[in-house]
Order: sequence, then C-alpha cells, then structure tokens
Amino acid sequence: MNVLISGAGIAGLGLAHWLGRHGIGATVVERSPALRSGGQAIDIRGAGRTVVERMGILDAIRDRHTGTHGIMYVDRAGKPVARMGGDDFGHSGGVVAEIEILRGDLVRILREAAPEAEYLFDDHITALRDEADGITATFHRAPPRTFDVVVGADGLRSGVRALAFGNDRRHVRDLGMYSSFFAARTSLELDGWEVMYNLPAGNGVGGRVLLLYPVGRDGEVRAMFSWASPALGHDRRDTAAQKALLAEVFAGAGWEIPHLIDQMWQADDFYFTRSGATELDRWSRGRATLLGDAAFAGSLGMGTSMALVGAYVLAGELATAADPAAAFAGYEEGMRDYVTRNLKRPPGGDRGFAPASRAGIWLRNQVVRTMTKLPGKSALTGNLQAAADAIALKDYPLPTATR
Ligand SMILES: Cc1cc2nc3c(=O)[nH]c(=O)nc-3n(C[C@H](O)[C@H](O)[C@H](O)COP(=O)(O)OP(=O)(O)OC[C@H]3O[C@@H](n4cnc5c(N)ncnc54)[C@H](O)[C@@H]3O)c2cc1C
Repeated sequence: MNVLISGAGIAGLGLAHWLGRHGIGATVVERSPALRSGGQAIDIRGAGRTVVERMGILDAIRDRHTGTHGIMYVDRAGKPVARMGGDDFGHSGGVVAEIEILRGDLVRILREAAPEAEYLFDDHITALRDEADGITATFHRAPPRTFDVVVGADGLRSGVRALAFGNDRRHVRDLGMYSSFFAARTSLELDGWEVMYNLPAGNGVGGRVLLLYPVGRDGEVRAMFSWASPALGHDRRDTAAQKALLAEVFAGAGWEIPHLIDQMWQADDFYFTRSGATELDRWSRGRATLLGDAAFAGSLGMGTSMALVGAYVLAGELATAADPAAAFAGYEEGMRDYVTRNLKRPPGGDRGFAPASRAGIWLRNQVVRTMTKLPGKSALTGNLQAAADAIALKDYPLPTATR
C-alpha cells in the first residue's frame, strides 16, 4: 500500500510516523517550502499522551517543555488579577495541560520520528481522480502519481476536502474570531506564567485578547493576538495586509502591545488564522479521507491530541483492514464518539475568552478566581480531562523490527 498525505503538520507527520512503523509507504506533500514551525504552545492531553508515548517521543517532548506553570490574567496596568495553575484541573483538564510544548518544537520532533516518508515541500495537490484500483493525484509541481489512499491532513481549510467533497463552504462553521501568532521579546517578568490581557470591543471589532507565552528565561515569548469580528474577507496569503489589520485593531492599546506590534513587522513566523469548526457527517469518500483539523477542527484545546490519536487509529486500521473502505469505516467507528465529545465547547468558553466590555472582563476574572476552588469545577471546563481520555486505543500489531 502507498499513501499520499497532504500537509506536514501535526496530523500529517503523526500519520507518516505510524505508517512507517506499520511498513506502509507514505509520501507527504506540504504547501510551504519548509516545515511550518510557527504558533504558540499546544497541549497533549489524555489519550494523546499515550500515543506520543507509544511513538517513543514522550521524553523528547518533555525535554522541550517550556516549564509554564499556568495562566495568569492581568489588568490594564499589567497587575495579576487571577491565575489558573496547570494542575488545577488534573494533568489534562486545564487551560494549560501538563504536557505543553511549542508547536514548532513538536513539529520538529514529529518530523524526526518519521524519517522513512518521502517529502514534497512547496507543492500541493491540484486534482484527484478516484478509480477502482487507485487514486491519481495531480500536483502543482511534481508529475501526477497514483496512490492507494489520499489523506487530507492539511488543516481547517483542507485542499483535499475541497477536492474530494466539493462545495467546501458547507463544511466549516465560522467561529467569529481572528488569531495571529509570532515570536517576540519582552522585558516583562513573566516568571514562567502564560499571561492573558483583555481589551473590550473597539476599533470596529469585538473583544480583543493578547496572550503572551514565555519561552525560557531570557524574555523570549510567543505572542498571540485574537479578536472577535465578523469575517472581513481577507486574502489568506497576504501577510502584509494581515499585519496591517492587526495593527489597526490594536491601535491605541496600552501596556506591552505597542512594543510587540513594533516587533511584528519583522516577524517571519507570523501566522494568521480565522477560527472555524469542521462539520462533516463522514470523513471519507472513495479512496480519500481526512485527518486532524481537516476533519475535526473546533475544539477548545484538543486539536493536537485528536490529530495525534487520529493518526494512530487511521494508520492502524489501514495496516489491518482488508481494503481502504474497511479501514476508513474502522477509523470513523473508532474515533467518532471521542471526537464528538471533544468538539463540545465548555459552557462560557468563548465568551470568557474575549469579553466585549470592561464589566465582562471583570466578571470573567472573578469567575477564574473562584472556579479553581469550587467542588465539581471540572464541569466548568467541560470535563476536559475525562473527554480527553474517552477512547480505548487498540493495540494494532506492528512488525517485529518497528515495535
Ligand atoms: C503555523 C501554524 C501555527 C499554529 N499555531 C497554533 C497555536 O499556537 N495554537 C494552537 O492551538 N493551534 C495552532 N495551530 C493549529 C494546530 O496545529 C492544529 O489545530 C492541530 O495541531 C491539528 O493539526 P493539523 O495537522 O490537523 O493541522 P495544522 O497543524 O494546521 O497542519 C496543516 C498543515 O497542512 C499544510 N497545508 C495546508 N493546506 C495545504 C495544501 N493545500 N496542500 C499541502 N499542505 C497544506 C499547512 O501548511 C500545515 O503544515 C497552528 C497551525 C499552523 C499551521
């Protein structure tokens, strides 16, 4: 069997690893000229922890742990007003999980763990022809090739999904937020805490948020700027326009924001995205299937774990089922309940992230101050810890050499 994977992100690289372990050939096509290492910290929760352990990369991930203690909410003057510790909701149930790693570090670790795959960077699939004995992909640069299976692991705006399922607008529910990420430096003393600073609606948009993620001890941070707004019809590939939009939205804001925006103009890892939730009755059609955000985006904090777990299950089913159709059926059956449960967003999760008024920000901070002390507090985060573990991982047999 040979498998074409579109996207060298978390899902695509995770799948390449497991296909290699099962002795299945994989080709990974990635639109960017190199691995996309941008982004802030991401969490590996519940069954996702078991999967990285089975991949043999848990120690490498722990070695790159940034040592963040949790999240701290600050007021207009930068004074801490509330905190939520990483272990207040168990190892996987809080805003910051016990295993948290910069996305860029995880991508590099996953790439090293998938050495056998063939990689085609700076390319993408332009057409798919699905036939009885194979699926032929046409590429922007490489010559056409036929595979047994094509997997769209190419994120929320999946190219494979658009080609295999058509009419793609139907498959993504807009969540009303823009976010962007870049690396920067600060002279603030964050002391190992991720810092959240909220601004009310203004400059023509809704609630606005800055999240600063500390990296080590020398002032290096990953900045995330988010704001609520209807879709503005931006060009997904026009970075200069995206940076100008962010500067406009946060114009006049105080605290550390002007200093960070000054650095944004030079940032070469700038990543800009609009949140959405994928909605599909089935993840597979013919010889094409979807994995990660392409199939199940829209959770709060579970995207990476679901991508890693999905990669494990899909590879295991492809290795053990009689044909791709049976493998896809096994993959959907194995994953559906776990995904459905984790796509439920906790009560108040969205409003609590970017309140539109000063009163709303104050109220959210009061809730955070008290919720960590409440009995039954896990319900407030949607029982994330239990949901993150809500899948029984099968033991798919591996060839002796790769066990
Ligand atoms: C640069 C970047 C930064 C991110 N930062 C954060 C963050 O800070 N916090 C967070 O929670 N989530 C972040 N995410 C999203 C997070 O990685 C995913 O939600 C989650 O890990 C699921 O992973 P995924 O592999 O499905 O998608 P992704 O990690 O988004 O990977 C998709 C990959 O597919 C590639 N791709 C897209 N279209 C095509 C195409 N047509 N052909 C070929 N390749 C294509 C992309 O370049 C990317 O490498 C980020 C994603 C990216 C790409």
